[in-house]
Amino acid sequence: MLDVSIRIGLLNVMANLREAEGVSILYITHDIASARYVSDRVMVMYAGHVVESGPTEAVLGNPKHPYTQLLLSAVPDPRAPLSVGAESDRGEPPRVIDPTPGCRFRWRCPFAIDTCAQVTPLPRALGPAHEAACHVAQPDAA
Ligand code: SF4
Repeated sequence: MLDVSIRIGLLNVMANLREAEGVSILYITHDIASARYVSDRVMVMYAGHVVESGPTEAVLGNPKHPYTQLLLSAVPDPRAPLSVGAESDRGEPPRVIDPTPGCRFRWRCPFAIDTCAQVTPLPRALGPAHEAACHVAQPDAA
């Protein structure tokens, strides 16, 4: 919630520290644009589970998990016509207290299949160092 100039200044300080000192920084945010600006790798979480991870450009440029796709569709683009992303987000919020087996995103997922309600998806490789926890996500074409 910092103003833009202070935010950019802090992001640059972190990026410089990382380069100069060789340190790793864990940056937790809802701001995808700043995550893209400052990070080498991203992990997308939903209801306490990592649903997608990998190199920043691979994940944000070619999202495999429906939740990552939904997140990106919600980023406002002042040049685009009215987005359908928010309208397509229907369904229930996740049950994080005493969750049942299955994918925690299934109540909001337009691609859910029967397996999604029974089996919790585990992360699997879908591209170079790029993983997603989804039963229907497709790997990169060979
Ligand atoms: S596992 Fe099923 S419900 Fe979960 S994101 Fe993938 S398709 Fe959707």
